[in-house]
Amino acid sequence: MDDQQLLRYARHILLDEFGIEAQERLLAARVLIVGAGGLGSPAAFYLASSGVGHIVLADDDEVELGNLQRQILHTTDRIGWAKAESGRHMLAQLNPEARVQALVRRLDGEALAEQVARADLVLDCCDNFVTRHAVNRACVAQRKPLVSGAAIRFAGQVSVFDLRLDDAPCYHCLFPEADDVEELRCATTGVLAPLVGIVGSMQAAEAIKVLAGIGEPLVGRMLCLDALTMQWNTVRFTRDPACPVCGGRDGQGHGGPTAACLPN
Ligand SMILES: [Zn+2]
Repeated sequence: MDDQQLLRYARHILLDEFGIEAQERLLAARVLIVGAGGLGSPAAFYLASSGVGHIVLADDDEVELGNLQRQILHTTDRIGWAKAESGRHMLAQLNPEARVQALVRRLDGEALAEQVARADLVLDCCDNFVTRHAVNRACVAQRKPLVSGAAIRFAGQVSVFDLRLDDAPCYHCLFPEADDVEELRCATTGVLAPLVGIVGSMQAAEAIKVLAGIGEPLVGRMLCLDALTMQWNTVRFTRDPACPVCGGRDGQGHGGPTAACLPN
C-alpha cells in the first residue's frame, strides 16, 4: 500500500482485528453484486469505500423516479441510465481506486456461472426468487461465499452462506423453491427506505468480514428485523441433508432447517 492508501484506509488498519494484512486482502478481492437497487446501493458504497479492489455490479434495469426514495447509488439527473452504469459512475467518484465493472444484463446461465467463478464472494441484492435461487446454485457449484439480504415493507433479513465449508447450509436449505410461494416485491408492495440501507450495509459488513477473514460471519444464522418495533430475531438453521441443490456436496448435514421468520 502507498501513503494515500494507508491514509484512506487508516480507520480499518487501526482495528486490531484488521490491520494491514486484512486491508490488503480487501484490495485484492473481487466481489460480484447482483442487483444495483435498494440493497445493492449501500452494499456497493461501503465495499467501494472500504477498498474492495474489484467490484462487478450487475443489473439489467434503468433508473426510474420511483427508485430514488431508497436506491441511493442513483440520482435524479441519472434517471434513464442503466443502474449498473449509474452505480459505476457514483462509485468512481467515491473511490477512484476501486475498479468497478458494470454488467447491464440479468445474470443467468453461463454468464452467471462465469462471474461467480471469477468472484471471491457474491452478494445477492436482487428482488426475485428466480435470481436468488440461480445465484445460490452457482455459488454452491463454485463453492463461493454468498451474502444474502432481503427487505420488504418493514421486514428485513440477512444471512451468510459460506459454501466453502462442507457443512454450511445453502439458501435453498433455508428457502426451498416452491411454485406457490407468493412473491412480494418492493416495486409493488412498498418498503421503508432506510430498511434497505440497514440490510444492505449489513451485507457489506458481512462481506468485508468474510473477505478479511475476521470475526464470526452469519453462517447458519439469519437475522430478521421488524423495523416497526426495531426488534431483531435470530433464526438458526442447519444444512438440509436432502437439499437437492447442495445435497451432493461432501460432508455431513446436521438435520433439516428450522422455521424461518419470513418467506422473502
Ligand atoms: Zn442446500
